[in-house]
Amino acid sequence: MSRVITCTCGCDRTGELGVRTWIRPCAMRWRNAGRPETGPPPPSRTYPAGRPADRRDAYAAHRDAGDTPEQAARRLGVSRATRTRYEARYQQTLRDQGGSDVPERP
Ligand SMILES: [Zn+2]
Repeated sequence: MSRVITCTCGCDRTGELGVRTWIRPCAMRWRNAGRPETGPPPPSRTYPAGRPADRRDAYAAHRDAGDTPEQAARRLGVSRATRTRYEARYQQTLRDQGGSDVPERP
């Protein structure tokens, strides 16, 4: 069974328990980094640690700045599946805001 914990690596995120007292993404980073005694390396150099919504905002900001979906996803270090989700949300937000693909109101 999985358990939801607050990660102690310093990222302050909550998620499913991965290894020791870290959530899965952090445990994975730790493993990929060669299991250093100091614990997982910091979550990222490019995106702010925090709630998924923060990263979605960051994604939107990169897209607004002219990045392609691929570039924005790479900056944030998100997977292809996550990118697809963020992009869908981004497009939805554009529509909600009355973006160019929405007919103007009379
Ligand atoms: Zn963590």
